[in-house]
Amino acid sequence: MKTSGTNLEHARAHNRRVIIEAIRLHGELTRAELARLTALTPQTVSNIVAELEAAELLVSRQPRKQGRGQPAIPVTLNPASAFSIGIHLDHQTLLIVLVDLTGEIHFRRLILVQKPEPDATLARIAEVLDDIKAQLGARWHKVLGMGVVMPGPFGVEGISSIGPTTLHGWERVDIEAQLAAMSQLPVTLENDATVAAIGERFHGVARQLNSFIYLYIGTGLGAGIFMDGHIYSGHAHNAGEVGHVVVEPGGRACYCGNHGCLERYVSLQAAYEYCGLDPMTALPDDLLAVEPARFDDWIDTALTPLRQAINMLECIFDAESVIIGGMMPAALLDKIIARLPPLYQSVRGRYLTASRLKRGLTGSDTAALGAAALPIFDEFNPQFQVLMK
Ligand SMILES: [Zn+2]
Repeated sequence: MKTSGTNLEHARAHNRRVIIEAIRLHGELTRAELARLTALTPQTVSNIVAELEAAELLVSRQPRKQGRGQPAIPVTLNPASAFSIGIHLDHQTLLIVLVDLTGEIHFRRLILVQKPEPDATLARIAEVLDDIKAQLGARWHKVLGMGVVMPGPFGVEGISSIGPTTLHGWERVDIEAQLAAMSQLPVTLENDATVAAIGERFHGVARQLNSFIYLYIGTGLGAGIFMDGHIYSGHAHNAGEVGHVVVEPGGRACYCGNHGCLERYVSLQAAYEYCGLDPMTALPDDLLAVEPARFDDWIDTALTPLRQAINMLECIFDAESVIIGGMMPAALLDKIIARLPPLYQSVRGRYLTASRLKRGLTGSDTAALGAAALPIFDEFNPQFQVLMK
């Protein structure tokens, strides 16, 4: 088979990411350990490590003495060698973070917004980017890019533009182009569930998983799909939008026009409505103040639809694990997960029982941190080439 130059460049970029990933997971590794863990040839490892060291993305650690041979020199990520910006826009909040290559936060700004409008929101983002520029000074050129996370689905006639679980007024805004023009950086937009899956792989319980599904309970409900070490986002970034799968024909009316959609039972929106909170103004933590018996009653209504969702996702994707997380407060999510068993039989049901379900990272920063991981995860990110000189 003939290998084109493009494929060679792609293979190099892919191998580079594999090596950065392995070092991130293990802290520090020698070249021999890298070759063993990644199944790359020692020569390939050696070339890529040299390239990454020249770009200062990797640094050498203290040599390890071993037997009579040459001491082995482990390499580790150089935290301050590259940065990435994560932006999470939701119904009530705009959160912007700056992280380094290891995921350490160097800047964090939370702005309360109410049903954010595009023009005003983009102006706020521009102000914050100026602050980040001022903080980084000359190191601004080490910023790999920006990841942006918003609730999906994107660009679906009749679903994106109506209803309480999507952001209004953003349907025709090319946010990637606008932010790229503003910052001169590569910008990646993803939905919240996909980004949560990346965050989980980067910082959380999925660090050792190659195939998993992240069921994201946000204002609506979505699933992030991570298969064979890669995110699967679909043709229009809408893969995993399970919220509008009908689980109860003739059930609760949904603004998409169907009756009995999954997210009418399993979502913050559904919980707010059931518990008597105003869905237009409620925040996730408001659910902590709901009378426990009332919240338990809501869980009753959500359990069967949630089991159906897990069953469906397990049977379609044959993943190692389904992770449940999102914006639901951790204590309440634990309550829901504790009551989920027995799960339906599925292709995962007979084995791997211990890892079948996991509780994801929760908390207000999860999505923004996942967004910040997007440019680092993107093997096609042109900024890597810039850092490589
Ligand atoms: Zn629907």
